[in-house]
Amino acid sequence: MNPPVAEANRARLRQKILVVEDESDIRELLRFNFEQEGFAVEEAGDGAEALDRVARRAPDLIVLDLMLPRMSGLELCRRLRANPDTARLPILMVTAKGAEVDRVLGLEMGADDYVVKPFSPRELVARVKALLRRANPAAGAAEEPAVYERGRLRMDFGAYEVFVAGERKELALREFELLRFFVRHPLRVYSREQLLDLVWGRDTFVEPRTVDVHVRRLRQRIERDDANPELILTVRSVGYRFNPEALE
Ligand code: CA
Repeated sequence: MNPPVAEANRARLRQKILVVEDESDIRELLRFNFEQEGFAVEEAGDGAEALDRVARRAPDLIVLDLMLPRMSGLELCRRLRANPDTARLPILMVTAKGAEVDRVLGLEMGADDYVVKPFSPRELVARVKALLRRANPAAGAAEEPAVYERGRLRMDFGAYEVFVAGERKELALREFELLRFFVRHPLRVYSREQLLDLVWGRDTFVEPRTVDVHVRRLRQRIERDDANPELILTVRSVGYRFNPEALE
């Protein structure tokens, strides 16, 4: 990989914040402050647009204003939590001053933290950073359920067994670990280097190409047609992304 491509990849792999807010001046204010801190920012003006953006590519965190037209922020929060792909996506909600009920409901619906309007952008960014640290994918593995089941895929994390459409598949340990990582972190794009860090571990001395070899083997075991993969997708010159929707 030559340096300019690596540079571009790093830029694309910046942590991404989705700001859901119908007031464009507040979106602008947040975008400015997040970009100053090196985050990539996406915006959605209402709940439907937010769901659409999340389905296409999940952000690392959502800043969610509760006062939205059509679908309320509470409803959006509930839907994100009900979907296994986004159940653990960090959500910072923004509530109106004095809207105590919203705040309580929002936390009950699964928001991770809140700020009250009018907020200080610096404080909001600090809260976001704290949430992202807590959501570090390397942590929290212990609270995962023991079995993943969606559509034709079933993974038993305790027994290290994988079934595709009811048929047991023999996976090498590293293939199993790679698939486990993918199902636990759907929709997001990971570079080969990130996968090496997160699946192989930082201290292993293997080439990024090793990831490609394992992805190829994994595809042969779980894809319907490994020449046209629909589960483990290649994102050109960036890395790989797991698409659980193709399991249904
Ligand atoms: Ca609003």
